[in-house]
Amino acid sequence: MRTKSIIFLISLFAPFLFQYCSRLAITNTNLFDPITGSMLPNSTILIAGDRITAIGSRDNPIKLPYNCQIIDGSDKYVIPGLIDAHVHLVFLLDKVNVKGEDVLPLYLGNGVTSVRDIGDQIVPQKEVADFAETHRETCPTVFMCSPLIDGLNPMHTAGYTINDPARVPGYIDTLVSYGITTLKMYVGIDTTVFKKVIEEGHRHGLTVSAHLPLRYVKTKNAIDWGLDVIEHIWGVSNDSLMIGKMAAQGMMVDPTLVVFKNMIYLPDLPEVWQSTDNCYVPDTLLSVWDEYRTDPKFNEQNRQLRKSKMDTYKNLTYTLYRAGVTLLAGTDTPEPYCPPGFALHDELVLLVESGLSPAAALKCATINNAHALKQTNNLGSIENGKIADMVILNANPLEDIRNTRTIFRVIHQGIVCDPQSVLPAPAVTPKNISNQTGHWMNNSARFFNTRPLTSPNDAH
Ligand SMILES: [Zn+2]
Repeated sequence: MRTKSIIFLISLFAPFLFQYCSRLAITNTNLFDPITGSMLPNSTILIAGDRITAIGSRDNPIKLPYNCQIIDGSDKYVIPGLIDAHVHLVFLLDKVNVKGEDVLPLYLGNGVTSVRDIGDQIVPQKEVADFAETHRETCPTVFMCSPLIDGLNPMHTAGYTINDPARVPGYIDTLVSYGITTLKMYVGIDTTVFKKVIEEGHRHGLTVSAHLPLRYVKTKNAIDWGLDVIEHIWGVSNDSLMIGKMAAQGMMVDPTLVVFKNMIYLPDLPEVWQSTDNCYVPDTLLSVWDEYRTDPKFNEQNRQLRKSKMDTYKNLTYTLYRAGVTLLAGTDTPEPYCPPGFALHDELVLLVESGLSPAAALKCATINNAHALKQTNNLGSIENGKIADMVILNANPLEDIRNTRTIFRVIHQGIVCDPQSVLPAPAVTPKNISNQTGHWMNNSARFFNTRPLTSPNDAH
């Protein structure tokens, strides 16, 4: 009887005990605010359970509760948890017999605390999202999207044909019951279906996105009819009137520069295909990537032309930024040479190479991506009441954007994660790669010793 009473009392107070015990403070640290683009010194962040409960500063200090776990944040830099706005966790992985959940630790170990799946079959996508939710200590939060809504004969295995606009409401109702945040339309979609998807998507409060250019819908019409997001920079026309309209409407563009560099144009560059980041990718996926790289279309003769196309897309990205179009940060992992998690750090570097300041690039990967997910109440910045997703860095990312890789700890929903424990052992050691290629180490050293990638001509 007595034992039963004790068990009853413990179960009654367990939630409060857990909350009490799970208090965490990061003290006297440098806190990055993506809204102002500034680094706030002498900040203290208090976390209880999975939420941020107070932010203190030198002028407004907070009293730390008794028995609170403390991380000394002096000489550290805390940024909001990174969000990758463009990943696929099913179709390519499925082809090479890799489960989506197997690559999720690569994201979290790289400080990516949320991902936006942007087009996959809904049932396996939901399974991956559910797995992530029950393994928050090793996996990011997965936000789901529709399959690629397409016309007849969809080009992707992740595609879904709708040729009659009357079928759109019922289909979207079903997708909403799975918990999607985004609808994505693909290359062969019919014009009337396109308009209906936007109308129904907005009625449900979803973000509506498309892979442009589309076969039957002109880009100008897509903008006029209220599309929210354009996936990939190559779908944007360098037309000042059109870009001005996109900015005025609050449209978003997810350039995914890293997939253009690493897969579309320059996968044969040694720093791309021999990167140590690729060592963390499962062997079966890596072998598909390697087949892709050896395609004869990538040759020495056209390399300069390919580089110049890459420069065109970087320039267009900066034009959009200057015009006030909201830019997202996405990667298209796991397409060739875009390793999950790692590739988002490369995307940040490419945004800075395009002309954005490091603060502006970080804004894309945090609050802008949260905006695309309609999650700014929960994610995207470190503020009282938001979910405790953040990354503690050893070096200042505003001095050199590549410092986002200097991860000390990742905090996901209040859980403190050591990236070294979250990341799997690399599949191939750098030493072996070096033996195979001869020059790998030299290339890598040169890459990491170049001058800081800052951009003086930019306001965030
Ligand atoms: Zn994609």
